[in-house]
Amino acid sequence: MGNLLLEVGRLNKAFETKKGLVHALHDINLDIKEGEFITVIGPSGCGKSTLLKIVAGLDTDHNGNVRLGGEEVTGPGIDKGFIFQEPRLFPWLTVEKNIAADLSLKDPQVRAKVDNLIELVKLQGFEKSYPRELSGGMAQRVSIARALLRNPKILLLDEPFGALDAFTRAHMQEVLLDIWQANRTTMVFVTHDIDEAVFLANRVVILKPRPGAIRNIVPVDLPFPRKKSSTSFQEIRYKILNEFEKLDELELVESAGI
Ligand code: ADP
Ligand code: MG
Repeated sequence: MGNLLLEVGRLNKAFETKKGLVHALHDINLDIKEGEFITVIGPSGCGKSTLLKIVAGLDTDHNGNVRLGGEEVTGPGIDKGFIFQEPRLFPWLTVEKNIAADLSLKDPQVRAKVDNLIELVKLQGFEKSYPRELSGGMAQRVSIARALLRNPKILLLDEPFGALDAFTRAHMQEVLLDIWQANRTTMVFVTHDIDEAVFLANRVVILKPRPGAIRNIVPVDLPFPRKKSSTSFQEIRYKILNEFEKLDELELVESAGI
């Protein structure tokens, strides 16, 4: 794993609401190296999406530093790919045109890259299909391919598999790991599923709510491919579960999907 890529330092974020100030993030410090796969886990409302949006440059109204490749993040850009829970595709464009977006498929370089990505996300045969003809998992693979086309320095994924059934979800986790192993794109992946967090990550960042803060960062030193049923996997899973139990509010444990 390479150099430092993302530096988040003393990040604080508050929202002004009718009911007063909501302190969404409190003193977040997080350094991520090039090529790392980071998962962020925590109950709903603990600031996971807020953190991801700030890193993406979609929200610049905060205190603290966010640097990508040594440069302050001041807005969104193609160096930061973002994947939402619901795939946001153009319904009137085919799969390949959705991936190319505003680049022309007549450009041989674009064509070659799109073909490559279609293979990587396992959508061969669906190049000319429209979003309505795809399953949820396939549509999400199109969004991932579209984000990767621009060679982002980092891919930010906000509960990307949250709407998928368990089998599709498990398959998508494997596809994403294949992509990561082929491209080594740095990943920050938000989830509230502990198995998913452990299965994918080099490190799991555990957030706690009110205000959103880092509770712990758990390294996952298991070789790939991982087996969710293995003893070593279960040990790490329990360690994380334990962190949630320490929050000792049943409602939070429940909302973490435990
Ligand atoms: P998570 O993604 O972990 O569920 P969010 O980042 O969406 O959490 O939200 C963190 C906190 O900030 C919550 O208390 C939420 O209500 C609040 N919040 C998020 N977005 C806004 C907003 N645009 N305006 C006001 N409050 C917000
Ligand atoms: Mg969220």
